[in-house]
Amino acid sequence: MPESAAPPVGRFAPSPTGAMHLGNARTALLAWLHSRALGGRHLLRFEDLDTGRVRPWAFDVTRRDLEWLGLDWDAEYVQSERLDVYADALARLTAAGETYPCTCTRREIAQAIQESAGAPHGTEPVYPGLCRLHPPSPGRPAALRWRVPHLTVCAQDALTGDRLCQHLPSEVGDFVLRRGDGVYAYHLAVVVDDAAMGVTDVLRGADLWPATPRQVALQGALGYPTPRYLHVPLMTDFRGERLAKRGGAPPVQALREGGEEAGRVLATLARSLGWDVPETVTARDLLPLWRRTLEKAGWSLPSQT
Ligand code: GLU
Repeated sequence: MPESAAPPVGRFAPSPTGAMHLGNARTALLAWLHSRALGGRHLLRFEDLDTGRVRPWAFDVTRRDLEWLGLDWDAEYVQSERLDVYADALARLTAAGETYPCTCTRREIAQAIQESAGAPHGTEPVYPGLCRLHPPSPGRPAALRWRVPHLTVCAQDALTGDRLCQHLPSEVGDFVLRRGDGVYAYHLAVVVDDAAMGVTDVLRGADLWPATPRQVALQGALGYPTPRYLHVPLMTDFRGERLAKRGGAPPVQALREGGEEAGRVLATLARSLGWDVPETVTARDLLPLWRRTLEKAGWSLPSQT
């Protein structure tokens, strides 16, 4: 790494909407391994803007689960304490004429999509730009949408080598940056925070890969650098279904409080990645395995001290 490069900073950014399950713990482990393998700082960021879904107890349970697994962090942030930072970024886009208010209901949007000639791309319906043409209805709370540039934006994954290009108007559409109820949207907050916190490496679940090009586009509009992205597979159950907080996946808390050893849980997570490890391991023991994974993906790592 050149000496002038920004010091590596990674993060784990859980949404405190429930207890961490093994799948969340595996992503947390990999994010920690990545930050530490680079000799970088590691941040914990609670993404709690969607207040209706937040469970206040989940903050402490998550912290204790991470500590139990030996996944430490150098600084902690809570998004709900940073609303002014998101407001500033949004004000900049608005001042540049890049946002517009939108009072369309879900039903109106669904109808407009049906009526428009093209079927939605992929699985996600594309907002057809209704409010670009119609002024917002007075008396209804207005969301703010980003007038996406007429560009194709590509994201590159630094682990898998995958590249994903999306034409913003036709494949993403003008997306919401602040909801009608005043809640800042995940895409805005994540982009603002990663830049403000100097995050150089975003390791997260593969479910967010399709959202990466639009986040890269937003970074461009706000003048932020684009971090490296590494998307890791989500853990699945024996049926091959993705683990979910509501789907009965074993919470880490239950294992911890039930007297399970952290070392055995870490070994289970490591084995689920195909790593050959003994029955119990520490998070630190897994660092060489992550380093090898990165090297196989073409990374040259700083020599270990
Ligand atoms: N808060 C998001 C989640 O729990 C992760 C966001 C990110 O890593 O960019 O799924």
